Amino acid sequence: MKTEQKLYRCPVCGWQDGAEEDRLRTHCPNCLSGLHGEREDGLECGGVLEPVGIWVKSDKEWEIIQRCRLCGEMTSDPMSAEDNPVKILSIASKPLSEPPFPVERMEELTRMMGGRGDMGGYYHEQRK
Ligand SMILES: [Zn+2]
Ligand SMILES: [Zn+2]
Repeated sequence: MKTEQKLYRCPVCGWQDGAEEDRLRTHCPNCLSGLHGEREDGLECGGVLEPVGIWVKSDKEWEIIQRCRLCGEMTSDPMSAEDNPVKILSIASKPLSEPPFPVERMEELTRMMGGRGDMGGYYHEQRK
């Protein structure tokens, strides 16, 4: 009988689930990394999701903010009770010099959000 496929094995640190565990994991409780499945555009990515921050939604709801190493997409995953508290603290206390968003893409994002394009209507009215 093969049960190997059921077991979660972390592609980053090699942590492995116990044999009797039979539940779906979306991230590794040891290093908090995960695998990027379906992207926002519906394509499979398969990249490694690195934990970049902790988002405290409420006292009971904590989420891990993850960023895909491959495509750079940001995602968040609810924390589980067995997640490594030392790892959580080390991520939560990361210096602000490492913001949880891709700074190198800021320019690109600004362009996407309109920039001069949004001013089109304004200039148009002026010409009337
Ligand atoms: Zn791991
Ligand atoms: Zn990805």
